[in-house]
Amino acid sequence: MRAYNFCAGPAALPTAVLEKAQQELLDWHGKGLSIMEMSHRSQDYVAVAEKAEADLRQLMNIPENYKVLFLQGGASLQFSAIPLNLLGKNPKADYLHTGIWSEKAQKEAQRYGDINVVEVGYQQDGLWAIRDQAEWALSDDAAYVHYADNETIGGLQFKYIPVTDKPLVSDFSSSILSAPLDVSKFGLIYAGAQKNIGPAGLTLVIVREDLLDQAKPEIPSLLRYAAQGKNGSMVNTPATYAWYLAGLVFEWLIEQGGVDAIHAINQQKAKMLYDFIDASDFYQNPIAPAYRSLMNVPFTLANSDLEKQFLKEAEANHLLNLAGHRSVGGMRASIYNAVPLEAIQALTDFMGDFASRHGNQI
Ligand SMILES: *Cc1c(COP(=O)(O)O)cnc(C)c1O
Repeated sequence: MRAYNFCAGPAALPTAVLEKAQQELLDWHGKGLSIMEMSHRSQDYVAVAEKAEADLRQLMNIPENYKVLFLQGGASLQFSAIPLNLLGKNPKADYLHTGIWSEKAQKEAQRYGDINVVEVGYQQDGLWAIRDQAEWALSDDAAYVHYADNETIGGLQFKYIPVTDKPLVSDFSSSILSAPLDVSKFGLIYAGAQKNIGPAGLTLVIVREDLLDQAKPEIPSLLRYAAQGKNGSMVNTPATYAWYLAGLVFEWLIEQGGVDAIHAINQQKAKMLYDFIDASDFYQNPIAPAYRSLMNVPFTLANSDLEKQFLKEAEANHLLNLAGHRSVGGMRASIYNAVPLEAIQALTDFMGDFASRHGNQI
């Protein structure tokens, strides 16, 4: 039996996608071998890779003048690849700070450039929020402005695209494909695949072509977007199986009705969980309502001594991976595209039951 999986990443995948992969595993399309065992240069594999890109372009409505790259190394390697690719002509960049991931990106960028850190996350009446854009101290001459759309650990999310005349570079690791997005507003969007796209091992970069000539000369060729773009993300062997599986997820998303349709379900899921938490004296979410993440819902129990018990009972109820990030503790439910509405229903039923049995231990 498949349990409900609230893992932050690697995260739940649609059951239908795993079944299709299983069905094709030993003998892909009657070719007598697994897609994993195929040359990445073969006609069959290249067709799979190109179909995945075409489907993603359709889902996200990606304009023609953007390259879509299927890379390795995770979002964390992009923390270095981005400054190496974009700070070759102008060493300055603005980095908005909203939490742990945007800080990691900024720390890595500081090794390569002159980084202006803009503090935009702050506590408002004990809840985390994002300062209004009018208060941000952006520089006049940055090569780009970087931010993390969704702080996966903190559960703090932008509800709009920041406005700037500089190229906007954003980490969408945990929010890509969860809601409609105007790609044309960005210079670069990147995302590790293991949250909302597919298995670990694949990283997506969507980059506007006019930014491809700003790289530092010493950049490793595997990290150079221009080279990867020219070579169909195959400067060396790509993560072929993860790329194939991402393609199956894109097909599944199109079958669900695309990003608008999944967004409507995501909103229902998030509302159900946040409304439940808000109505309860036992659970609490630390984010101001206007900045709550659609995908990652951290929460605490009124009595933190009950956390181990909560996790144990949740697991016995087939509700998995609800522990918060090791750096912050508490609980966190990650409710990505592949997590169905029924999972949230089951989770809130369990949470209500747990609170009624332990409410007197506050
Ligand atoms: C998970 C995550 C990362 C790190 O991803 P890796 O692929 O493990 O490097 C970076 N940024 C955000 C917002 C994330 O959620």
